[in-house]
Amino acid sequence: MFKPEEVIFALTDACNLTCAHCTVSRNNEVLDIDLAKRFLDECKEFEIERVGFSGGEPFLLPDQLAELVQHVREIDLFFDRIMTNGVWFRTENELKAIVSKIYDAGFDGTICISFDKYHRQSISELAVFIETVHSIAENKESIELACVYEEDPCENRMLLEDLAQSINGILECDAIPFRIVDTLRLNQEAQSIIDGLGLYIPITHIKRSHSADTLAWNDTEWFSDDFCTGPGNVLYVHANGTIAACCGFANEQDPLIIGTLKDSVSHVLDNSRKNTYLAWCYEHGLGALRIALEKKGYTFAGKTRDICGFCDFVCKNKLEKLVGPPGFEPGTNGL
Ligand code: SF4
Ligand code: SF4
Repeated sequence: MFKPEEVIFALTDACNLTCAHCTVSRNNEVLDIDLAKRFLDECKEFEIERVGFSGGEPFLLPDQLAELVQHVREIDLFFDRIMTNGVWFRTENELKAIVSKIYDAGFDGTICISFDKYHRQSISELAVFIETVHSIAENKESIELACVYEEDPCENRMLLEDLAQSINGILECDAIPFRIVDTLRLNQEAQSIIDGLGLYIPITHIKRSHSADTLAWNDTEWFSDDFCTGPGNVLYVHANGTIAACCGFANEQDPLIIGTLKDSVSHVLDNSRKNTYLAWCYEHGLGALRIALEKKGYTFAGKTRDICGFCDFVCKNKLEKLVGPPGFEPGTNGL
């Protein structure tokens, strides 16, 4: 069942990078901060207490980011991550000023850098970003990395080693080739921050999802239902103010839109309960929807393990309309 615990704001759909795998639509949208603050004021009542920031590149709008951070602090909600590519700054002075502004506004969550073979940032610029955040945050757990891979997390290992080296750190990996122990540490020389433990950077590995247009359909097995654990159970507010029911790959698709920032939180949650596609995603499973579609005679081009890519395909082709809500036709929807 869809039960959001966090709201994530995309401050803008603009970005300084153009990653090949990016699916964010770019329409020069900028989040309405006053509406965002009003929406946040209602969140606690519905046990939505964590707030994260994404985009586009959220640091391209530092004043708006700081204003929202300060509001989150004032109304006593908790911070999750600010997602960033970490290389949006023009000068080190600009970087220091903007990062200081966000921390002065009260931010105490983590800054999560998307870093992998798709982003291909300058390692030296990223090292400057990491050192700057670390020195201003004065917290060994201020930074995280999120790495997207195609088949194997080890695809990013050389890049991670280069990054570790550039900040005088070491990438700690398990000896078994296909498991990475997700830690990246600065060495003893850098351990001068107040807690005395240096910088500790956990790495999350995320398998790449493909869009409906690029889904290969050449897997030997179907995806396993995960009921949207991971990217689910968040209110994802796009820069244009529309609100999606997850931060997954298909979250710009209409069936996942459950309101706008002009709505009350209560209204958005009501919409989510009436949304039959969400019932498939969060309760019955997209595997059950797939079986129901096949029983209706729909033929897929092959199999895919990519559940969010499958979700994107279903939404783009409006396939959920072929079977109606789950439970509508007992015996034909795979339940
Ligand atoms: S950094 Fe993120 S938002 Fe920017 S182009 Fe890359 S994937 Fe898209
Ligand atoms: S399967 Fe669909 S609804 Fe679920 S997290 Fe992925 S994109 Fe979102």
